[in-house]
Amino acid sequence: MAVISGVGVSSGRAVGPVVRMPDPVAEPAAGSTVPDGADVAAEGARIAAAAEQVRADLERRAAAAHGDGAAVLEATALMAADPALVTAAQKKVDDGTAPARAVWEAAAEVQAMLESLGGYMAERARDVADVRDRIVAVLDGRPAPGVPERDEPFVLVAHDLAPADTATLNPATCLALVTEGGGPTSHTAILARALGLPAVVAAPGILSVDEGTVVLVDGGVGTVEPDPAADVVEAVRAAAARVLMFDGTGRTADGHRVQLLANVGDAKGAAAAAEAGAEGVGLFRTEFCFLDRAEEPTVQEQVEQYRAVLEPFAGKKVVVRTLDAGADKPLPFLTDATEANPALGVRGYRTAVRHPEVLDHQLEAIARAATTSGTEVWVMAPMISTAAEAADFVALANGHGLATAGVMVEVPAVALTADALMANVAFASIGTNDLTQYAMAADRLLGDLAELSDGWQPAVLRLVHLTAEAGLQANRPVGVCGEAAADPALAVVLTGLGVTSLSMTARAIPEVAATLLSVTKAECQRLAELALAAPDAKAARAAVHAELPPLA
Ligand code: PEP
Ligand code: MG
Repeated sequence: MAVISGVGVSSGRAVGPVVRMPDPVAEPAAGSTVPDGADVAAEGARIAAAAEQVRADLERRAAAAHGDGAAVLEATALMAADPALVTAAQKKVDDGTAPARAVWEAAAEVQAMLESLGGYMAERARDVADVRDRIVAVLDGRPAPGVPERDEPFVLVAHDLAPADTATLNPATCLALVTEGGGPTSHTAILARALGLPAVVAAPGILSVDEGTVVLVDGGVGTVEPDPAADVVEAVRAAAARVLMFDGTGRTADGHRVQLLANVGDAKGAAAAAEAGAEGVGLFRTEFCFLDRAEEPTVQEQVEQYRAVLEPFAGKKVVVRTLDAGADKPLPFLTDATEANPALGVRGYRTAVRHPEVLDHQLEAIARAATTSGTEVWVMAPMISTAAEAADFVALANGHGLATAGVMVEVPAVALTADALMANVAFASIGTNDLTQYAMAADRLLGDLAELSDGWQPAVLRLVHLTAEAGLQANRPVGVCGEAAADPALAVVLTGLGVTSLSMTARAIPEVAATLLSVTKAECQRLAELALAAPDAKAARAAVHAELPPLA
């Protein structure tokens, strides 16, 4: 079988047999009824038996899982044990509805009831859908939805992965992820990087590879090779057994310093990043602390959340980003859910026009958390479009006693005018996820546009170059905190373009560090020129990979 090409979103190589993610459970046809002459009581009893099987299965899996995964499975098992859904479904079967359809309709009623209660109960509506799908799968004699369970290591192949799959994916047995859909910032990509698993997305044809076929996944180059040669398999397995360590100082082979920082969203992530040896935090996504809130959190509550993130990095740097609400991260107290085009709407710093008090409260909270933490706190605003906005934000932050204030470069307009920007800020941090989305006019969440939504696009690299050059001229640090920083080969290119720090999921740091250590600064610059001169993202990636030692 020919090699399948997709978009590599999490580097590393792995070999293993393909295991297919089961297709999502489809809604049983409306109006389906129990067959004439069927024993209605027995049909109803099948629902109870299926629910019991689902509960027992989930509990068994929860006992074997740990952390968040165990908690999610336990909560779902509890929901499966609740008789409300089964009783309601059995009543419908008594009235002649087919069991699978009855479960579907009963679940819709339970969901509507939970949603009407709001808050925590409304969030449980998603668990009802999960239990519903599992019961319907048992009734239909199909495999349970979600990540399949296996004792032996495997390569997971799916159309795309949902956020709920993240908790139940076991990195001890899942070697790599390959999806037909998804893009570089899809859930699959984010999950793979967080777990340190090689991953290829937007790989057409991958769903036609037979279950059990051994494949070599190269998440750096973006290829999947069925039935690789025995010596290649051996080499990849030997490389995977090596454990990379980060010594705490990011640098090239000739000692050029590049700070290697972590992206975090809460205290747990910060503690894990500190343990992984990150030199600091390059992006603290504060909105992640409040995604479920209908109302603005109090200043005191914010102080506590921020302090918990700052504390593990006492004596080190933490870059706190003010709320990046909007588009894929709506915050009900700050953003307007009715906007027709939210990615281009009132998001990030722009929300401060209508709600200046929210930004003011947040800066006050960050300043208060900073004073007692012993951490070097930098603060930055997302979604800045002009040098004047940057100046306004920096003045505001300085007014709160936050001396090191800068902005994110995510809008091409601000990268193109980076020379004017640098005069107004203490530093800049390039968000390559949004910079790519806006430069290529390609929704970062759409798998169909994965080839455009790629940080290797030469147009994006030119914008990074312009920004980094302006930073060097004005003596301002310029970091990258988008997903591009977690790609070891791209990290080399970004360094060659003049970027001074790289911030990424903590798991990616050891491999990025090892790759940087394998090249000199001059080699980084030469590889950056190669990438800039390439006609497209694919060619840029291939040209640079061809010149680097194999990334394992
Ligand atoms: C980015 O846009 O690259 C970025 C780091 O911000 P976020 O992914 O949170 O939008
Ligand atoms: Mg962004």
